[in-house]
Amino acid sequence: MTAHIIDGKEIAAGLSQSVAAAVKRVTMAHGIEPGLAVVLVGDNPASEIYVRSKTAKTAAVNMRSLFYKLPATASEAELLDLIERLNQDPSVHGILVQLPLPPQIDQRKVIEAIAPLKDVDGFHPLTAGLLSTGLPGIVPCTPLACIMLAKKVHGSLAGLEAVVIGRSNIVGKPLAQLLLMENATVTIAHSKTQDLPDVSRRGDIVFAAVGQPEMVRGDWVKQGATVIDVGINRVQTGDGKSRIVGDVAYDEVAEVAGAITPVPGGVGPMTIACLMLNTLKAACAQNELPAPEVTA
Ligand code: NDP
Repeated sequence: MTAHIIDGKEIAAGLSQSVAAAVKRVTMAHGIEPGLAVVLVGDNPASEIYVRSKTAKTAAVNMRSLFYKLPATASEAELLDLIERLNQDPSVHGILVQLPLPPQIDQRKVIEAIAPLKDVDGFHPLTAGLLSTGLPGIVPCTPLACIMLAKKVHGSLAGLEAVVIGRSNIVGKPLAQLLLMENATVTIAHSKTQDLPDVSRRGDIVFAAVGQPEMVRGDWVKQGATVIDVGINRVQTGDGKSRIVGDVAYDEVAEVAGAITPVPGGVGPMTIACLMLNTLKAACAQNELPAPEVTA
């Protein structure tokens, strides 16, 4: 069997187009131009790439893109001061601080300083609390992207066995909450899980969000299962070059899975499209407008 490849780029392009049209409608009807402020601290090359693609995509969907760069030596107080100014600025509807931050800055304090209504990444504890109690609020971008991709394959996720490998606050945990809301039966695995391959083989859908290159092997996956690979790992290729691989051994797993996301070109582009969607939703919520109608 060779798996169907879930084309995250194409699905993200469809979602972005729908978001761009909805932004135009909101701007024309209400004079509101949704604005996303992206903050980068320091010169981490991977972060620079992520930030560039986020700001380019913001402009491409007709939203206002603001970019703030602080030096690697910036103090926590400087960053908190910038966030407070962005919190108070009514033309800024979403604030994203690119992680990781330099060691002198407490990441938790920074996340908690972002006004929850502008927390388009969905990392604030209040946002996490709303999600875990099933109340409406912003849904973190990567877990939302994973759900949208899985639903492209399955339509409904109700009753399916979903295995989430990884329990971080930004991917694994919120993804598990969303799967519960979709009525899947959810198993969350992590570094202390016993016999992980066996646990993984339970999944009708397996989500890998681990940060370990190609950890999920072909014999970890049930025949015909859907595999969503969140991982982004840079590995050396031996000729002095490097390439990006996921948490899934793609070639092996594609032989047994029914559907699989590639890396790159799977969850990554969809995450950015979901960030645009979240910014538009945040702009609507801040202006007491109904949630926009958008399709993926
Ligand atoms: P974290 O490092 O925060 O969490 C990793 C999780 O994986 C932890 O829960 C950890 O378990 C678990 N884990 C680590 N090693 C193993 C192992 N050997 N066996 C089983 N479980 C293990 O990572 P993130 O959640 O932030 O990110 C995960 C991956 O997703 C990374 O590659 C990251 O780059 C990528 N990512 C991609 C995004 C995208 O847009 N495509 C967005 C965000 C992240 P424990 O809790 O027990 O330590």
